[in-house]
Amino acid sequence: MADTFDVVVIGGGPGGYNAAIRAGQLGLTVACIDSRGTFGGTCLNIGCIPSKALLYTSELYELATKDFAKLGIKGTAAVDLPAMMAHKTKVVGELTRGVEYLFKKYKAEGIVGAARIAAPGQVEVRTRDGNTRMLTAKHVVIATGSDVAPLPGVTIDEKKIVSSTGALALDSVPKRMVVVGAGYIGLELGSVWRRLGSDVTVVEFLDRITPGLDGEIARQFQRILTRQGMKFMLSSKVAGIEGDGALLRVAVENAGGERQMLEADVVLIAIGRTPFTGGLGLDAIGVKRDARGRVTTDAGFRTNVDGVRAIGDCREGPMLAHKAEDEAIACIERIAGRAGHVNYEAIPAVVYTAPQVAGVGKTEDELKAAGVAYKIGKFPFTANARAKTLAATDGFVKMLADAKTDRVLGVHILGHEAGDLVAEAALAIEFGAASEDIARTSHAHPTLSEAVRQAAMGVEGWTMQI
Ligand SMILES: Cc1cc2nc3c(=O)[nH]c(=O)nc-3n(C[C@H](O)[C@H](O)[C@H](O)COP(=O)(O)OP(=O)(O)OC[C@H]3O[C@@H](n4cnc5c(N)ncnc54)[C@H](O)[C@@H]3O)c2cc1C
Repeated sequence: MADTFDVVVIGGGPGGYNAAIRAGQLGLTVACIDSRGTFGGTCLNIGCIPSKALLYTSELYELATKDFAKLGIKGTAAVDLPAMMAHKTKVVGELTRGVEYLFKKYKAEGIVGAARIAAPGQVEVRTRDGNTRMLTAKHVVIATGSDVAPLPGVTIDEKKIVSSTGALALDSVPKRMVVVGAGYIGLELGSVWRRLGSDVTVVEFLDRITPGLDGEIARQFQRILTRQGMKFMLSSKVAGIEGDGALLRVAVENAGGERQMLEADVVLIAIGRTPFTGGLGLDAIGVKRDARGRVTTDAGFRTNVDGVRAIGDCREGPMLAHKAEDEAIACIERIAGRAGHVNYEAIPAVVYTAPQVAGVGKTEDELKAAGVAYKIGKFPFTANARAKTLAATDGFVKMLADAKTDRVLGVHILGHEAGDLVAEAALAIEFGAASEDIARTSHAHPTLSEAVRQAAMGVEGWTMQI
């Protein structure tokens, strides 16, 4: 095994493994190191993929118990939690092994071990068998991702007080669950356990859920989640958690300083994620980080140290798998002398609840704050034929376009399969499309995507189906 590479990537998540694959495709010699034991990072092992597996199966269970009878399907359904978890584990295993297959295919060497940048161009790896390997690289790419943000004063034991990792592996359905944080991870995993039978209360410091998503969409989303049985305590913070055997007592304080005690069997801490660069030796070689601990880079992902770049969750920008992937491609293409580039305006964000929430581009609040003149088109799924056939009519599409040029500035969707519908909007923003381009593009009937077209028509005031 050679120990000299064009590129050494530290971290095997969506940033790291895509960087290694792209490097291999472009003929660069590359190694990708991850200490976890399986490749795929947070996303494949303890993030996107296991959560989506549980979201899907729990959604089917809820449909079967609450909606099937209305659709003419009789019978009973029961939860087999070990089998549900086995499905999740199987999917994770297939996908993480898939990364190893792709490494072989694209001639990237995957190394299991903990890496440290000994000096620019020198990466020391402590492999699992206890050996040390020193790799030499023209380019080092840091893709070490992120970790769970801790709640001060609270110890996560992953059994009773859990992070997303523990919440993806509970061995029984908790009777009462308190979720701290109303971001997408808290709402997704809260939804999983509520559907399976938990009484779920979400405590959020801000006065709204899903910060960063369009405010109007978030309000409607909260109404739907409340109707489904999720409880919310907004403008409130968890002041402490006391444990007493099986029972946890959670002290919640609202903005007025009033305190309330909630009882819970499990508390999920989901207040965000923090960049992870521990053990890399960044201080020793002088790699700069910002006040939030993110590796500072220029637009070409270069740090202040020659030959060291950073991508994904450990640098600035939304902590999303596809953002890490986009940066991986652009970073490696730049290393290979090409013109890689990421359009941060066209990165979609999705919440995989039911209904889903998806958005890309500017929110209405952002346009208002920036003083941009805009037009809006909206279309509700109650008026969409496909949504009616699916009995999934909650939500709406909202399109924001520049008042003068008609260029699409943002699209926000609350509704069934919103995460897939938003792809069209991301493409429109990437191509600099006008809302009229979407309004005059043929959309198959009957599909949910027709709601996107009708919203686009609405920008110029000619929505036809309402
Ligand atoms: C519950 C949950 C659900 C999520 N769902 C979604 C979703 O639906 N869609 C989405 O886009 N995003 C989702 N995310 C976020 C997504 O997982 C991250 O944005 C993504 O994984 C970031 O990729 P990355 O490559 O930057 O880092 P990571 O995936 O975190 O990978 C970094 C890897 O580096 C390794 N590493 C760190 N330091 C070292 C070292 N010194 N030596 C060797 N290896 C090291 C770590 O072990 C890790 O495997 C979710 C996250 C969570 C927690």
